[in-house]
Amino acid sequence: MSVMVAQRCLNHPSREAAARCPECAGFFCRECITEHDDRVICSACLARLSVLPEKKRGSRGRLLIPFYLLMGIVCAWLFFYCIGRVLVSTPSSFHEGTVWKRDMLGSGDD
Ligand SMILES: [Zn+2]
Ligand SMILES: [Zn+2]
Repeated sequence: MSVMVAQRCLNHPSREAAARCPECAGFFCRECITEHDDRVICSACLARLSVLPEKKRGSRGRLLIPFYLLMGIVCAWLFFYCIGRVLVSTPSSFHEGTVWKRDMLGSGDD
């Protein structure tokens, strides 16, 4: 672009545009433009983006899926670990007569 035309703000025709919105490709003055995510967009687009954040939330939610899977595995491990602890800590009278329990307790009884 060799011809530099002094762009005017879409909201304020009397003001000179300071930046161009990459979303709507409109020119806006310093007051009408806002910094958002390392780029400057107009207030209208900022409102539109803040109303519809599904795009970002979707990608972020996809990243959380392995985290939830890991949490599920940890929860399952904790569940079986607690069951094991309960089985071990149950009174020996409960297991009286069972051979496997004697073997696990060791050779103290014999
Ligand atoms: Zn815009
Ligand atoms: Zn303006």
